[in-house]
Amino acid sequence: MMSSVVTRVPVFAANWKMNKLVREAPEYVERLNALLGELYSALSFEVLIAPPATHIQSVSASLQGLPIKVAAQNCGTARAGAFTGEISPAVLKELACQWVILGHSERRHIFNEEDSLIASRLRAALEEGLNAVVCVGEVLQDRKAGKTFKVIESQLALFNSAKGAFQPSLLRRVVVAYEPVWAIGTGENATPQEAQEVHAFIRNWLSEKVSPEEATAVRVVYGGSVKAENSGQIMAQKDVDGLLVGGASLDPNTFAAIIKNGLKTRLPGAPI
Ligand code: PEP
Repeated sequence: MMSSVVTRVPVFAANWKMNKLVREAPEYVERLNALLGELYSALSFEVLIAPPATHIQSVSASLQGLPIKVAAQNCGTARAGAFTGEISPAVLKELACQWVILGHSERRHIFNEEDSLIASRLRAALEEGLNAVVCVGEVLQDRKAGKTFKVIESQLALFNSAKGAFQPSLLRRVVVAYEPVWAIGTGENATPQEAQEVHAFIRNWLSEKVSPEEATAVRVVYGGSVKAENSGQIMAQKDVDGLLVGGASLDPNTFAAIIKNGLKTRLPGAPI
């Protein structure tokens, strides 16, 4: 078993998906900062905003001087080249984007991205110095067939092919997101116990394949129909280190409430 002393800094990510106009971004950032500003000076936690790629420059500019970071929703497999429609991780860096979400279920299931492609994206992102949120998760059919762990294990193997991603120094720049596909955008979240079970599985897997130290340090976040009403209970689980929020993150008031409720149970006694 892993150490029960939790030193991992909670991280909350807002995945805007293909929503919002560029001109709507500054107001969102301003509101979120107004709601979280005081907490930042009192507590240690991270917040990421993942807008569409077209909005990154505007969001980065609005975030200047704030502790909130911007994340891309995907990135290319190389610095440059003949890859029409792709976005270079080097350009993301140039736009002050420090994070990228990879392997999101919408990329896997709508755009048929496979583990090998996600592994190439991860390698390119890490080589460029980006941090990555790597998503894994089973579809309902697999859960019903009792294959959840098998699916998660096969997806985690992409770290093997993202050569070098297993180096402890690089793994520290990775957040693993457990996002059951049946819970994304459906209003039906995994129960806190279901989430904990898979998070513990992921941590144990990392412990065996990398090292117990790295597994203890890596943050594993949950995503799938997170709302202000369930974020506290989910964050109360010992292996849940944060939340990846889609639909409910589009409103800064709701996203801030999700973060606050999550932090309340994660950091009991904290002045929230
Ligand atoms: C997501 O986009 O990663 C997600 C979890 O979406 P939602 O919160 O809407 O289920």
